Amino acid sequence: MTAKFAPTDGDVLLVVDIQNDFCPDGALAVPRGDEVVPIVNRLGARFRHVVLTQDWHPPGHQSFASSHPGKKPYDVIEIAYGSQILWPNHCVQGTRGAAFRDDLAIPHAELIIRKGYRREIDSYSAFFENDHKTPTGLAGYLRERALSRVFVAGLAFDFCVRYSAEDARGHGFAVVVIEDACRGIDVDGSVAATRRLLADLRIPVIATDDIVVA
Ligand SMILES: [Zn+2]
Repeated sequence: MTAKFAPTDGDVLLVVDIQNDFCPDGALAVPRGDEVVPIVNRLGARFRHVVLTQDWHPPGHQSFASSHPGKKPYDVIEIAYGSQILWPNHCVQGTRGAAFRDDLAIPHAELIIRKGYRREIDSYSAFFENDHKTPTGLAGYLRERALSRVFVAGLAFDFCVRYSAEDARGHGFAVVVIEDACRGIDVDGSVAATRRLLADLRIPVIATDDIVVA
């Protein structure tokens, strides 16, 4: 039987990128991404503290295939900080696609972390941009707030959720991933790779029903 988790005042739910562009009909749709919205809403009600992330790119962002003549979405290029998958244009600042889903309902969320707003760097993780050294400020925020255990849910399981969980662990926070509250993109086996990585890091992967009200 999986252990049950009863969120306390030291726990935070990190809700990753529940934005129009990552849902069906969006520019970078995660298959069945919209299914997590009601699940995440239910989860949010069980946590006193919730942080939302929002992918937030300027036009012409380096992660867009359209910024690289001759390239197409899902091509991989090498740039200063390593390999970068090229994506369709998505989550452009101020657009409808970058907005949170209208049905996301976690009014008590305390912070929105925007990421990927530097033209030259992509950002999957809620903690570091993809150069793995430019911080978003979230680690400092959580420490100042004495939030020591991070429960991660949202989109996409194999990118922004994965890197956020890994970096939370790297910062010394306890981490739990709520997998049924995530959906994956699955580029070249990336969902299976994410499950292996989380297992290697001994990051618990649980279900929404394992979260109970204290
Ligand atoms: Zn992005």
